[in-house]
Amino acid sequence: MSPVTAALADGVPGPLDHAGLHALAERFGTPAYVYDLAALREAADALRADLPAGAALLYSVKANPHPLVVRELAGCGLRSEISSLGELAAVRSAGARCADALYTGPGKTPGELRGALDAGVRQFSVESLADRDRLARACRDTGTRAEYLVRLNGPRGSSGGSLRMTGRPTAFGTDWQAREELAALFTPAGPARPVGTHTFSATNVEDPRALAVELRQALATSVEVARSAGFVPELLDLGGGFPAPMARPGPLPRFPALAGTLAAALDAHFPGRGQDGGPGVAFETGRHLTAAAGTLLTTVVDVKRSGDRTFVVLDAGVNVLGGMSGLGRLMAPRTVPVPVLPAEGARPPIAPAPSRAERVSLVGPLCTPLDVLNPAADLADPRPGQVLAVPNTGAYGLTASLLGFLSRPAPVEITVDGRTVVSARQLTLRTTGVDIHA
Ligand SMILES: *Cc1c(COP(=O)(O)O)cnc(C)c1O
Repeated sequence: MSPVTAALADGVPGPLDHAGLHALAERFGTPAYVYDLAALREAADALRADLPAGAALLYSVKANPHPLVVRELAGCGLRSEISSLGELAAVRSAGARCADALYTGPGKTPGELRGALDAGVRQFSVESLADRDRLARACRDTGTRAEYLVRLNGPRGSSGGSLRMTGRPTAFGTDWQAREELAALFTPAGPARPVGTHTFSATNVEDPRALAVELRQALATSVEVARSAGFVPELLDLGGGFPAPMARPGPLPRFPALAGTLAAALDAHFPGRGQDGGPGVAFETGRHLTAAAGTLLTTVVDVKRSGDRTFVVLDAGVNVLGGMSGLGRLMAPRTVPVPVLPAEGARPPIAPAPSRAERVSLVGPLCTPLDVLNPAADLADPRPGQVLAVPNTGAYGLTASLLGFLSRPAPVEITVDGRTVVSARQLTLRTTGVDIHA
């Protein structure tokens, strides 16, 4: 087990030890995100080992569009799954190949499709006939050809992901029973050619058996829909649902039985697969690849009593972490930070000897009662100036937060490789005038 895995297994926040994190907080200030490239490589290697041999793995850039994160995962041989021109720009600035990207999403505009094609993207997930026809037109406009996967809304799965995407009326994909529409989608449209199917049924499926059921079901649905349309797929993108702890300590789960289960299911659907080819399979996740690589450093600004409750006010709120939790999306506000102790002998001591943990409300600095990171956290002797580390915040951290709300500066994003600082940057929101006379 590498040091990173060992640290995660111990519930230590992220890749660095306490002294290392404390030094980063002193050097760059807080709030700050720390992303560890070594932990990204480790997560990518582990997940690939848990997938059937030969499967492609895509990194869903929306989880963390930091170019060094995208670059590291592309360097591990992962394709990118993107759904905006901004994410495409992240892929380009990472130096990753646009030709390897899969462009997805329910609302692709003609301008966006042309921009993606001009940049070299050649594979799209199409959601509907209108979406496919827009792709074909964008190909003609740009003098390019493209492949597409038909995104399916399959039957209801059996597991409970934290955020179900299919199995009910949804904006995503084409219903698996919509025979006529599917027959048309599986027919080439000039320069746009169907090559396979795309499903994404749920995210963050915590029970590994439920995850296997979900993926087997995605496979069965994809095969059945393609067969009944008389279509021979080259690629089945089965989506994901790979879980990861979020904003609390805990190890990244592994799936030791998954590769065998899925390989057996593939053999059953495609006897002789291997000799005569059979379709390739692909999986996608952002969360599972990046969650463990990120640690949010934050400082206690104030500790207040009100009535019978203690409020610990942090310099990081929903502007920095979990901003979408108020929408009931992505995560419940149950952030569990870990006090970061300075290196031995360092002064001043910011944390005394551990005492009995107290139940406190962890709140951010924003002027709204909605800025709560955890209404009931156990924290030992919180005091102003103390640095806390929130582990497992590499996915849906900054990118899924209310960065513009209350007009505070964005946290610094520090990238490390093990103990070496590789880069530091800070996002800014910029105002640009728009010509009102044009
Ligand atoms: C969001 C999304 C993903 C990634 O989900 P994770 O929870 O990060 O694994 C993958 N594919 C599609 C189509 C998505 O919309």
